[in-house]
Amino acid sequence: MKNKGFINKIIPFSNVDGPGNRLAIFFQGCNINCVYCHNSETINQCIHCMDCVVNCPTGAIKAWEGKIIYDEKRCTECDQCIRTCKHSASPRIKEYSVEELYEIIEGYHPFIRGITVSGGEPTLQADFIIELFKRVKTLGLSCFVDTNGFFDTEQIKELIHVTDKFMIDIKAIDKIEALCGCQMKNNLENLQYLLSLHKVYEVRTVIALDYIDVENTLCKVAHSLKHYPEVLYKLIPLHITGLNAQQKAKIQGKIPSKEYMEALKEKVEKLGVKEVEINSFSTR
Ligand code: SF4
Ligand code: SF4
Repeated sequence: MKNKGFINKIIPFSNVDGPGNRLAIFFQGCNINCVYCHNSETINQCIHCMDCVVNCPTGAIKAWEGKIIYDEKRCTECDQCIRTCKHSASPRIKEYSVEELYEIIEGYHPFIRGITVSGGEPTLQADFIIELFKRVKTLGLSCFVDTNGFFDTEQIKELIHVTDKFMIDIKAIDKIEALCGCQMKNNLENLQYLLSLHKVYEVRTVIALDYIDVENTLCKVAHSLKHYPEVLYKLIPLHITGLNAQQKAKIQGKIPSKEYMEALKEKVEKLGVKEVEINSFSTR
């Protein structure tokens, strides 16, 4: 078992990462790089280039023997380091053991309904999360995975087994390379597999004009979802919140209008999806 998890941040109370009040854990590292990612500092591990050291106004990041050291007590969370980093990383990553995370979760236990692991792409640290979920379930809490959907079902079959529900992206059906910067084929089969196990809580698609074939993508997802009325389909209009200048340049002119989003929602409902929502909150 991998005994440490690389964690970008922990949010003790979230009401957007699954049902009820949930503790959300954001794992560091992702296998894709979407043009609109609003937390791109979760994509890569730090390469200790030192660029952020001089830009930290409080001296919370220091260089020591070729590596950076982060002092949480000095950090004011101004995010200057994140804006400085050109490697889609963060100097504020912490390593936790399962037991250390369990103790944090146990402290919030009376106030939360469950935990959700997100990222980055949490399935990349599947072995660690399997152990974490097994431990957390002894508290009677539900365990959700928020994933980009690009995983090998065979490789994470034990994680699937111990996970209560998945929140999964269908980024697009075609043109994945331009959108996600990777060579992978679409992940519709993964969605269908999880649906067949009744393990899906919600599906999300970010509507990025020209980057995705909107009609084809939504039709394919709707076709998969129509027999699962309990699953929510979130249509997320592309937006610029949290994006860097480079990303903003790439998505210029690709943001859908409110009217177009409403029309898409209606179309998906007509295709038989029971629960459809336009949600502007997240574009990970
Ligand atoms: S967020 Fe980054 S730059 Fe700002 S104080 Fe903390 S470590 Fe320094
Ligand atoms: S967080 Fe980014 S800028 Fe800072 S040392 Fe690591 S790679 Fe360099």
